[in-house]
Amino acid sequence: MKNININMVDLMGQYSKIKNEIDRNIISSIESGRFVNGPIVKEFSENLSSYLNVQNVIPCANGTDALQIAFMALDLKPGDEIICPSWTYIATAEAAAILGIKVVFCDVDLHTFNTTADLVEPHINDNTKAIVPVHLYGQSCDMDPIINLAKKYNLKIIEDNAQAIGCKYTFPSQKIMFTGTMGHIGTTSFYPSKNLGCYGDGGAIFTNDNDLADRIKMIVNHGEKIKYHHEIVGCNSRLDSIQAEILNIKLKYLDVYNSNRQIMANNYNLAFEDINEIRIPRVISSSKHVYHQYTLRVLNGKRDQLKNYLNDIGIPSMIYYPIPIHKQKPYINNQILENTNILFNEVISLPIHTELENSNQEYIIDNVIKFFK
Ligand SMILES: *Cc1c(COP(=O)(O)O)cnc(C)c1O
Repeated sequence: MKNININMVDLMGQYSKIKNEIDRNIISSIESGRFVNGPIVKEFSENLSSYLNVQNVIPCANGTDALQIAFMALDLKPGDEIICPSWTYIATAEAAAILGIKVVFCDVDLHTFNTTADLVEPHINDNTKAIVPVHLYGQSCDMDPIINLAKKYNLKIIEDNAQAIGCKYTFPSQKIMFTGTMGHIGTTSFYPSKNLGCYGDGGAIFTNDNDLADRIKMIVNHGEKIKYHHEIVGCNSRLDSIQAEILNIKLKYLDVYNSNRQIMANNYNLAFEDINEIRIPRVISSSKHVYHQYTLRVLNGKRDQLKNYLNDIGIPSMIYYPIPIHKQKPYINNQILENTNILFNEVISLPIHTELENSNQEYIIDNVIKFFK
């Protein structure tokens, strides 16, 4: 076995390349004495808002809060229903459940791992208030049909964009928009391993609706506009200045980071597309893919064998997700989600990060091919 060191993510390797800039700005941030909501938080929000071409970016403490605040801003109440995929990170459902909102799960497409308008529609009833599409693994859902569906039933759309920041979607009109900016509200996470990650927790909420933005700005800060005048029930969910310094630097490199991920995904795709027992991720023509994860399907019950085989030779891999939400204890129900029930036994995510060296990727590719020979 060759001497290798491959990680699922390599945040230290990435840091080492931007260390001078990061260290300098962190120190000056501390010296400014503005630890919470300093000027840099505003500067970063403005930079992200012009990058995404969205009217308002409201930073908050993490991506889970961002979702909860979005539901609060839309005034969703106990008894109201939202529809989201079961095939996502727990936070999507949890943020609604904590408010007493009923979470109804929809299925996802087997090939893109994303939900579609057709899979959402059967779950709509008189109590449904919002659809929560998740741009999973870095690819946009097919938003045009979802937006039309929401219009037809007068529903709100909250895009969970925690995994797809920087991904673009093209409408049939040829209009191009970033994920997270197409619905009424979009949310994201700056958790360290996300495509745009800080060195702790962070998140943000996006909206083109200025009235909603005003409400969101109040909610993240105890429901106040004027200090100690609380107009609505809010919470405390803010972004630290130090995290904003880091994000402001890393935003400059986001496109480079994402295109590195695309190059690596392309290498994997070319190497694996002809293997009978593998299904490479399908990308719809209207969406780019920023590969937060490179996730394959392994057929014929061989996924766990492959995972163990790779592990034994120093190649890490992950299962996102081992248990879909509708099979998790607090959310368990007897919904039958055909594709979701297949996916959790078939998916495997391989290392894909900004610092993955070519020789290491070749080693991964050679060994995956060897396993299937
Ligand atoms: C990471 C993630 C979140 C939650 O973000 P946190 O910052 O960890 O709270 C929500 N939804 C999805 C799809 C995620 O991947």
